[in-house]
Amino acid sequence: MAPPPLGLIAELTHRCPLQCAYCSNPLALDMPDSELSTEDWLRVLDEAAAIGILQVHFSGGEPMARRDLAALVRHAAARGLYTNIITSGVLLSDAAMAELLDAGIDHIQLSFQDAGAADGDRFGGYRGGHARKLEAARRIREAGLPLTTNFVIHRQNAERVEAMIALGEALGSERIEIAHTQYYGWGLLNRNALLPSFAQLEQANAVVAAARERLRGRIVIDYVVPDYYAARPKACMGGWGNRFINISPSGKALPCHAAETLPGFVFPSVREQSLTAIWAGSDAFLRFRGTDWMPPACASCDRREIDWGGCRCQALALAGDAAATDPACARAPDHHLMALAIGEAEGAPLDLVPRRLKQS
Ligand code: SF4
Ligand code: SF4
Repeated sequence: MAPPPLGLIAELTHRCPLQCAYCSNPLALDMPDSELSTEDWLRVLDEAAAIGILQVHFSGGEPMARRDLAALVRHAAARGLYTNIITSGVLLSDAAMAELLDAGIDHIQLSFQDAGAADGDRFGGYRGGHARKLEAARRIREAGLPLTTNFVIHRQNAERVEAMIALGEALGSERIEIAHTQYYGWGLLNRNALLPSFAQLEQANAVVAAARERLRGRIVIDYVVPDYYAARPKACMGGWGNRFINISPSGKALPCHAAETLPGFVFPSVREQSLTAIWAGSDAFLRFRGTDWMPPACASCDRREIDWGGCRCQALALAGDAAATDPACARAPDHHLMALAIGEAEGAPLDLVPRRLKQS
């Protein structure tokens, strides 16, 4: 029997007031009438605690679009789960903050679309959003909660990483996450307008390295680089079915939030099966768990239990085969596809398709 997952990612809803063109949600978003009920989520939280999960990350879309968020936080906290909310912050009013605090929230991760209001509002597709985020950050700190600020970077804002870190510092962040766009879902759709150049990546790397040095011992800076310039892939989700279980708004249990794109899978629903049964016995979680499934390049590699062969969704999206070595790896037969994608993006138009619940 596999050890229990470390964390549950509860994607409460795909509704979101923002429209980020790099959103990692799937293109086919779950409609509001398909969302799990409060009772369903309460039961899932009970099961999560019973199976030995330690953390629950309430995510979305925008988790604060669910009116029952505080009730779910309260229930999770009462079961001994560490509770984190991953939010755009635009709905975090004084009243909402007080309610979440009373419910026992442990941590809030607040996302920003840029360092300043004009670009932030433009990339988020929400006028006044940046100002609301600044207010949200103030409320989080005044509530005495730890704050992580998150900045997603791409070709159209990569020059402003220094200003983003300065903003995160000014807001009192304990942790600043500088994350290059990950090319799944809407990010993949908009890849040609988002993928940075190598020169931009190098500049961002240098800015982050200098900031880490300057802020050592005060603020942790997490840095997520784009796979497209890498020689080795990331350990996606700490390995397939290894550390996390992701529940979509309609109740599908997924080894990672992008896994719904994989063909030939039937993802089990928490409406029909317990978390224990899903984690221990479903084909969806067993298929790529461990190393038995690996193609030759990975099976013979001494990094196979470090990066677990990389990302299955990226292997499907680029190589057309979810069971292939992630093309981000220099040992992968399909590694040349990364250079092709970089070439395709060079000089491509900067127009972005905004993320929308319903595509027109
Ligand atoms: S990335 Fe943007 S659009 Fe997607 S859920 Fe987060 S705030 Fe909403
Ligand atoms: S060959 Fe496979 S296990 Fe080895 S580094 Fe590449 S992706 Fe990771």
